[in-house]
Amino acid sequence: MIKKAALLALVIILIMALFLVFGPGRVQGQGDLAILDSSVEAEFPFKLNFRLSARSDAPITDIRLHYTVDRESYAQVTSEASIEFMPDTTLDVQWDWDMRRTGGIPPGTGLEYWWTVQDAGGAKVESAPTRVYFDDNRYSWNSLTRDKVTIYWYEGNQAFAEELMSAAEQALEHLSEATGAYPLEPVRLYIYKSSQDLQGAMIFPQEWTGGVTFTRYGIIAIGIAPNELSWGRRTISHELTHLVVHQMTASPYGDLPVWLTEGLAMYNEGILEAGYVNLLKGAINRDSLLSVRSLSSPFSANPEESYLAYAQSYSLVEFLATTYGQGKMLELLTTFSQGNSYDAALGKVYGFNMDGLNSLWREYAAKRFGETRQTTAMPPSPVEVLRLVSRLLLDSELTAQRVGI
Ligand SMILES: [Zn+2]
Repeated sequence: MIKKAALLALVIILIMALFLVFGPGRVQGQGDLAILDSSVEAEFPFKLNFRLSARSDAPITDIRLHYTVDRESYAQVTSEASIEFMPDTTLDVQWDWDMRRTGGIPPGTGLEYWWTVQDAGGAKVESAPTRVYFDDNRYSWNSLTRDKVTIYWYEGNQAFAEELMSAAEQALEHLSEATGAYPLEPVRLYIYKSSQDLQGAMIFPQEWTGGVTFTRYGIIAIGIAPNELSWGRRTISHELTHLVVHQMTASPYGDLPVWLTEGLAMYNEGILEAGYVNLLKGAINRDSLLSVRSLSSPFSANPEESYLAYAQSYSLVEFLATTYGQGKMLELLTTFSQGNSYDAALGKVYGFNMDGLNSLWREYAAKRFGETRQTTAMPPSPVEVLRLVSRLLLDSELTAQRVGI
């Protein structure tokens, strides 16, 4: 009985000792250094204002803000801001994360922050991490979630969001059938009612910006009015494909060839639009197709040439997917993400390099598109050219995101 009581006392002492070492507040050192208040306020899209109140018996000499942003990176990155102030026993300090200086982050980005405070007596305190979301609070957002996809919108009814969600679901299903790729991480789509509203969410908006895809954040922001459903469906399918393919293949080794990323995104939009088909037919008949090798680098800024580049990319992916099947396409994506060169990856998976693919695909395309004789291709309509320009710009944004800007 006495032994039991002694054992119990020992256990209690041990628990108390552990509590003192690891126990609440994570206060280290001496004195009564304490964080009295901590808060953050967002001024979307320009800044986050962090505030802290602290007091101690000895003058406070060091205050740091630490934060991590929810985005994909190959190593955990914690940013630190050292606050400038005159040492004192009672302090109210603030620090601005000014996005005009650092570049913006997308709407809805999550981050976690905490403070460390130290006084002249050597006492140190660390606050518990707090989560905050950098929401675009200019609008009241509705949301619709299915599986890994969430759509946020504020203009248009539930049916509008359902339409966009069905486009997203169909795109993911189609992508999975063609390549075996599926979203590894949640994807969030912010639907603004216009390009103007979207531009208000950006630090340095360009007047042509109609959408932005932030691959590292898993966030897409697009301006789609409720009466632009057909364009909206295609754009969502296209951009969602880019995000998912990026999630499946992201690696520090390098990117996929452009014809493959753009081809998958185009293929996933659905049937190739007539303007593209006509251009493809014309190029086959005039023998002016672009080589697979040249399509591996970013497309030309010349609208007609890039129009053809997108059409050929669609057709290349269609050729690989329908001739060799889903398993090979998935193998190709995986092989690229392991750091193989374009020629080596194709060689490993299909047994031909870019030139071999070029020859085989030309035969396929000649049969598929060349049979209907057409001496002059119909030029793309002004609406189609506008759409292409906005797509090119979306893709150039995407490239910027990929390289980590
Ligand atoms: Zn694209």
